[in-house]
Amino acid sequence: MMNATEVDLRYRPGRVERFNCQVGILPDGNAVFIPVQIMCGDQPGPRLAAVAGVHGDELEGVRALHALMADLEPAEMAGTLIVAPVVNVLAFNACSRRSPVDNIDLNRVFPGNPIGSISERVAYGLCHNILAGCDLVVSLHGWYQNGTLEPWMEFVDVPGAVGIASHQAACVFGISDLVPLPLLPGRLISALAEMGIPAIEGEVGGQATFNKEKWHLYYQGLQNVMAHLGMLAERSAGLPAASLSCWALRRVTAPVGGLFERQVALGEQVGQGQQLATVSDLFGRTVGIVEAPIAGKIASIQTVGTAQPGAHLFTILEPTVPRHVLVDETPARVGATRTA
Ligand SMILES: [Zn+2]
Repeated sequence: MMNATEVDLRYRPGRVERFNCQVGILPDGNAVFIPVQIMCGDQPGPRLAAVAGVHGDELEGVRALHALMADLEPAEMAGTLIVAPVVNVLAFNACSRRSPVDNIDLNRVFPGNPIGSISERVAYGLCHNILAGCDLVVSLHGWYQNGTLEPWMEFVDVPGAVGIASHQAACVFGISDLVPLPLLPGRLISALAEMGIPAIEGEVGGQATFNKEKWHLYYQGLQNVMAHLGMLAERSAGLPAASLSCWALRRVTAPVGGLFERQVALGEQVGQGQQLATVSDLFGRTVGIVEAPIAGKIASIQTVGTAQPGAHLFTILEPTVPRHVLVDETPARVGATRTA
C-alpha cells in the first residue's frame, strides 16, 4: 500500500492498485488519507469514479464498492474505474455524519480548501487529486443514522453537456425516483459540475446499516452505468428501472422538540394537510402536530422517537420536471448484471 499526497491515476492496461491518498495532517502529526482503489480494463475507455463514506455513518455505498471491486476483472472491462469507498475516514472512525475533529459536514464544504480545516482539506484532496479529469462521478450516500428512506437518485440539473450526461447516468442507474438538483453550495456533485464533471448522487438505506437488499441497488447500478459508458459488455438481466419519475424533495420538520410519534409509514401516500405525527412534552401533553404541506409519497422518515426542534422528520416527493434536460434525452435501456 502506497501513501502519497498525489496519486498516479493514469490508465495502464490491466492495472489494479490500492493507495492511501494523503490529504492532510492532524495536530498530533498523523496523516489523514482517503483510501483509493484503481482498476483499469484491458482496453482503454472512459474514466469513472465512485465514492462512498462522505458521511461516516452511511455504509451502503461502502459495502457495494467492496463487492464490486472484489468481483470485477480488468479483462472484462474497458477504461478506468476509480473507487474511494470511505472518503471521510475521520467521520467513519466515529460512525458519525460529521468529522468529530472539526464538526464539519463534508458534503457542505466541497470543493474544499487546501489551507482550510481538516474536512475542507479532505474535500479539496478528493476533488483535485482523485476526481479531477473523470468523465462521470457516482456518489453513494445512505440516509441519516436516525431514519430511513425509499431510494432516490439525484443528478445535477444544469445546462449543457454536464447536465445531459448526469441525467443520462441517473436514468440508466436502476433507481426509478430521480431528483434533479440545481447547483447547491458545498455539495460534491455541484462542485464537480462546476469543474465540468457530470455527477449523480444516490440516497439508499439509512440507520447506519447495510442490508444486502439496499446496497445491491448500488452494486447493480454501478454496473448499469459502466455498461452505459461502454466500460462493461451489456448483459441480459438487471435492466434499469423501466419507468422513471422526477421529484422535488419537500422536507417536513419538527415545529417543536419532544417525544415524536409517527402516524404514517415509509412509502405511504398522504394528502395535503394530513396529520403525519404528534410531538409531546415531558408530561405527555401534545405540543406539536406535524402535517403534510403537500400531497405525495412519504420518501423518508425519522425512526428515532425523540425529535429535536427543526429536525428533518419526513421527506415528501413532489412531482417536478428538470429545468435543463429534456425527457427525450433519456437514453436507451442498457444493463449489466452479476450476482454478489
Ligand atoms: Zn449522506
